[in-house]
Amino acid sequence: LRVVTDVVCPFCGTLCDDIKVVLDGNRIVDTMNACIIGNEKFKSAQAGHRIMQPLEREDGTTEFTPVSYDYAIEKAAQILASAKRPLYYGWSSTSCEAQEIGNELAEVTGGVTDNTASVCHGPSILAIQTVGAPMCTLGEVKNRADLIIYWGCNPIHAHPRHMSRYTIYPRGFFTERGFDDRTLVVVDPRPTDTAKQADIYIQVEQGKDYELLDALRTVTRGEDIPDVVAGVKKEQIKELAEVAKSKKFGLLFFGMGVTQTTGKHRNIDMAISWTQDMNKYTKFNLIPMRGHYNVTGSGQVMSWQSGFPFAMDFSRGYPRYNPGETAANDILLRHECDAALIIASDPGAHFPVEAMKYYAQIPTIAIDPHYTPTTGISKLVIPSSIIGVEEEGTAYRMDNVPIRCRKVVDAPKGILSDEEILRRILNRVKELKGIP
Ligand code: SF4
Repeated sequence: LRVVTDVVCPFCGTLCDDIKVVLDGNRIVDTMNACIIGNEKFKSAQAGHRIMQPLEREDGTTEFTPVSYDYAIEKAAQILASAKRPLYYGWSSTSCEAQEIGNELAEVTGGVTDNTASVCHGPSILAIQTVGAPMCTLGEVKNRADLIIYWGCNPIHAHPRHMSRYTIYPRGFFTERGFDDRTLVVVDPRPTDTAKQADIYIQVEQGKDYELLDALRTVTRGEDIPDVVAGVKKEQIKELAEVAKSKKFGLLFFGMGVTQTTGKHRNIDMAISWTQDMNKYTKFNLIPMRGHYNVTGSGQVMSWQSGFPFAMDFSRGYPRYNPGETAANDILLRHECDAALIIASDPGAHFPVEAMKYYAQIPTIAIDPHYTPTTGISKLVIPSSIIGVEEEGTAYRMDNVPIRCRKVVDAPKGILSDEEILRRILNRVKELKGIP
């Protein structure tokens, strides 16, 4: 047996970089330090639902025929080069290097490219673009934060090591006693497992985050509010404001319970405004709880290349961005694309049925290591290796820190990486379109 150390877990936005992987030859037999989800991600390299060769589905059937990589890449290039407005969606579970090639592919084909932020933290991005945001790194949180607020998120289940690595339990430079030096506040309509560990739990009424944040801003400024706001008593809102003011370094982590409920980006607008207000009294920051391990990277790479972080439309020959019009769901529901390439995500499991019904009718390509609901309704399925397990690659943690993921084992014989598949499709599309 051999142990590979300092491995990065390519599952959630926490991007834990202290994983040890136990190998027997080229086979992963165990992991150390990873949570149960991370452990499964590494084991998925050997899972039975791995796709071992490219597949093509005949129109009108549910049967797939095995094809070669050369055939699949040629077919994918033909589909994308002949489309008027192809849709490219996903990107959150692949490397920045692959994302960069994908964005170029969208540009040369006059398509729309979008990542999973459009159905998770897109509203956070819109709010940050509107009012800015005081942010910091998870390292600063570990070493300095004495108040942690989790609002509309449940890290014990979604980011299982977030609390043990960065927020509640670790000892930091200025938080030497770890857990004993920190106060945990949870705001959520449900008494989640994270809420059960909180020093202060605030049960906000479902969909009333905006009202509660507004009331919090008001009492923070010393003004009066009604006796009950969003189902929470005035005394409890005042207590939270006073506790927050009394701390040296506060952090507001927020999840999709805030971004995808009534108010959406306006909720985050208000959360950012409260955080900014709090900096008159103490040091305060906020960080979105990003889900897929490299959804943050996709926003970064799209922004470097075109100035916009998601829902980017090249159909007029220059990048445009108008979430609500140019996000993947909008495009599919209005039947505004004539081909689609899905990579590193599974909209078949998450998008509205009407959107996926249209997806199933047009020429489509899915690039994924595993069988998913999306691959099952795609016309062409191209298997790829797993970044962070079988390939190196760069990813951005939820606090916008880039981390280099390691390769631990070889991919199954003959399986190509996302980067290579996209590069070969891009080169062939350029040939077909006469682009040097
Ligand atoms: Fe992987 Fe996230 Fe678990 Fe860390 S918390 S081991 S990154 S799934």
